Amino acid sequence: MKPAPFDYVRPTSVAEASVALGRRGATTAAIAGGQSLLPMLALRVALPDLLVDISRLDDLKIVTRTPDSLWLGALTTHAAIEDGNVPDIFNGLMRRVAGQISYRAVRNHGTIGGSVALADPSADWPAGLLALDASLRVVGRNGVRVQRIDEFLQGAFETTLTTGDIIMGFDIPAPPKAFRWGFCKVARKSGAFAQSIAIVTQVGKDGPATAVLGGAGTRPHVLTTTAKLLCLPAGTEEQLRAAITSDLVSLFPDLDAYQTRMHTANILHAVREMRIQ
Ligand SMILES: Cc1cc2nc3c(=O)[nH]c(=O)nc-3n(C[C@H](O)[C@H](O)[C@H](O)COP(=O)(O)OP(=O)(O)OC[C@H]3O[C@@H](n4cnc5c(N)ncnc54)[C@H](O)[C@@H]3O)c2cc1C
Repeated sequence: MKPAPFDYVRPTSVAEASVALGRRGATTAAIAGGQSLLPMLALRVALPDLLVDISRLDDLKIVTRTPDSLWLGALTTHAAIEDGNVPDIFNGLMRRVAGQISYRAVRNHGTIGGSVALADPSADWPAGLLALDASLRVVGRNGVRVQRIDEFLQGAFETTLTTGDIIMGFDIPAPPKAFRWGFCKVARKSGAFAQSIAIVTQVGKDGPATAVLGGAGTRPHVLTTTAKLLCLPAGTEEQLRAAITSDLVSLFPDLDAYQTRMHTANILHAVREMRIQ
């Protein structure tokens, strides 16, 4: 199929883009890397009257490193992160997440902002940025707002974005030096969207820990019971399995037996990977 006809504009500033996206009486869509939106247009799943091309807005390409945080502009591509063209202050975690997204051709164009804006439950960045406790800056008709990614993600393909909103980028707190992580992804074949994404992080061997599961349910979630267990160096694998089960039952009550085993094995794999670092 071919896309239905639409108008196209390429604004030269974020403010201009926001006004265009908020055009009264029109269905509008921003286009960044186009890796998700172009297929959606071709399949006529998305039927905008007006396509607003934000892909050349320099304000969305800014990357800044401060002692306390990393700012990643929304137009940062998966490939730029994979290749280390942006500072990797997470001991390689972001490079690993980026490098496992689809194929290189998709990674060359696909952006971190587009991935989070779409909020596909199987996408990697919503889970990755949740594990890193990132916040987003969004520009819209009512000005600028900063929101934690946990509050931004509402469900499958659902976020707090409203008409005219543009994600500017992501503010990610810098981790301590002893930061370590494990990342494990289950997909039917190489390059396919994940069925399970497990990310665990910890500061040292018994410092603060995080565990996040994506690909289950409608959006990624923090596994709080599992994370607490990770802080107990003497915790056994049996206790860890019990903690994971408790999180899965409370956060994803609709999982069947196969999915439960798959996610459990995936999380355990990520924990093992983290513990050998
Ligand atoms: C074959 C294939 C396999 C893939 N596999 C994976 C995978 O394994 N894991 C994974 O995570 N992803 C995967 N993807 C998706 C890919 O990562 C896309 O790059 C990403 O989902 C969208 O980024 P984009 O820049 O291309 O956004 P676009 O396609 O341009 O836009 C996507 C949506 O986000 C909105 N948008 C874009 N930027 C902004 C912004 N700054 N502010 C507000 N709204 C915005 C658009 O309006 C649109 O609704 C795959 C894609 C393909 C085609």
